[in-house]
Amino acid sequence: MQHSRRVAVIGAGAGGLVSARELSREGHHVVVFERNTQIGGTWVYSPEIESDPLGIDPNRTRIHSSLYKSLRTNLPRELMGVRDYPFVPREGEDRDPRRFPCHREVLKYLEDFANEFGIRKLVRFRTEVVFAGLEKLGKWRVEFRCENGDFDYDIFDAVVVCVGNFSEPHVAEIPGIDGWPGEQVHSHNYRDAEPFRGKVVVLIGYSFSGMDISEELNGVAKEIHIACRSAKTELLGTQSIISNASFHPMIKSVCEDGTVVFQDGCVISADVILHCTGYKYHFPFLETNGIVTVDDNRVGPLYQHVFPPALAPGLSFIGLPFKAVPLPIFELQSNWIAGVLSKRIALPSKEEMLADVKAFYEDLEVLGKPKHRTHELGDDMPVYCNWLATTCGCPAFEEWRKQMYIAIGIYKMANLKTYRDDWQDDKLFCQAYEEFSKYTY
Ligand code: FAD
Repeated sequence: MQHSRRVAVIGAGAGGLVSARELSREGHHVVVFERNTQIGGTWVYSPEIESDPLGIDPNRTRIHSSLYKSLRTNLPRELMGVRDYPFVPREGEDRDPRRFPCHREVLKYLEDFANEFGIRKLVRFRTEVVFAGLEKLGKWRVEFRCENGDFDYDIFDAVVVCVGNFSEPHVAEIPGIDGWPGEQVHSHNYRDAEPFRGKVVVLIGYSFSGMDISEELNGVAKEIHIACRSAKTELLGTQSIISNASFHPMIKSVCEDGTVVFQDGCVISADVILHCTGYKYHFPFLETNGIVTVDDNRVGPLYQHVFPPALAPGLSFIGLPFKAVPLPIFELQSNWIAGVLSKRIALPSKEEMLADVKAFYEDLEVLGKPKHRTHELGDDMPVYCNWLATTCGCPAFEEWRKQMYIAIGIYKMANLKTYRDDWQDDKLFCQAYEEFSKYTY
């Protein structure tokens, strides 16, 4: 017999919306807490920036979204949608039918999704969760600040954390930075190139944001110096995608006279350091008496990136894995959580889950992966998705999806400037649309 639970979902971004749908479908009673005025999380663009552009002052005014104005998706839309509600182009004046659409189109897709599955009525907007912790008898107490500023609380059987992972900036440590006279900004607070006009910019990190932003700064900033750790440096330096950029190894130190010294001894004088150095997992409201910790960006211990063994199934996390296709993973993780809460799916014992986590950490160590890469999936993504699919009794992760993810990743690195408008995976593209034709909406 299936059990219906009262479940608090924290956050109404893509993760919260998808989990609200899966939990409701399973017959649970869902309340979604969202501190913003609308759904969409990351995809709600704001032209505003935070009061601390570096994003480290805990008392700064906060902006949730890290989107820049010109952002287009870095994944093709076929990989971005949930599996039974594909992200296909829709007609309408304000729609963007491109394969790698602008950020507004993703928000519209999420709004369509929420309307289609009746999720909005489950959401309490302008309601920020300030505390979530274990109560007596295995229940969860959730305290929140309401729209009118008052505080209130409610009791739930389970809490699903869907607060997103791209709002709390991780900043590079730079010897001498306290005395350096220049400006510092984190990419979380980058909106467009204009504030950098005519300036010498040192950009740290060359992942998705770093690539896009450096290209946008091209021809606007006076000089762009890209400092990155990876072995990509040499290859990228020869690609000449950005005419006024030079690639460097990481920064060794900075000095009071405004200079920046790179690890290869090269010295330049710079106006701005732009940190494109990623984000930290951050759950300021969560009280687990030390059972779940964030250590060097490892959230743990978590069984399969979702359940803390000692608190399962009452506490779970959606969307921690990165280098992955977010929404299909949200869907599978949510289906798992919903099924475990209703007792349709059994979890291993606490001891077995802990042993699994321990073995996983040992494997990472053998592979030389530092803790901050614990939730990185990359090539392991299809295996993870298939594990979830098998556990939930869902269809396996489609072969075209896997092949498209790999093909786009390779093509992107070789065609950074053009990959969004000119691609070569036509066969996979056709396979995707063949599958989408099953879902009419
Ligand atoms: P979010 O979208 O961040 O939503 C979290 C929600 O929780 C927010 O609405 C927030 O207001 C709310 N919240 C937080 N704390 C509280 C609280 N205490 N109480 C109440 N509410 C709270 N993915 C792709 O698939 N394709 C892309 O091309 C792509 N590009 C990206 C580009 C950038 C620059 C970034 C930052 C991310 C990109 N992503 C992309 C990843 C994207 O973040 C995910 O696709 C997805 O939108 C994440 O959804 P989420 O629900 O986990 O988090």
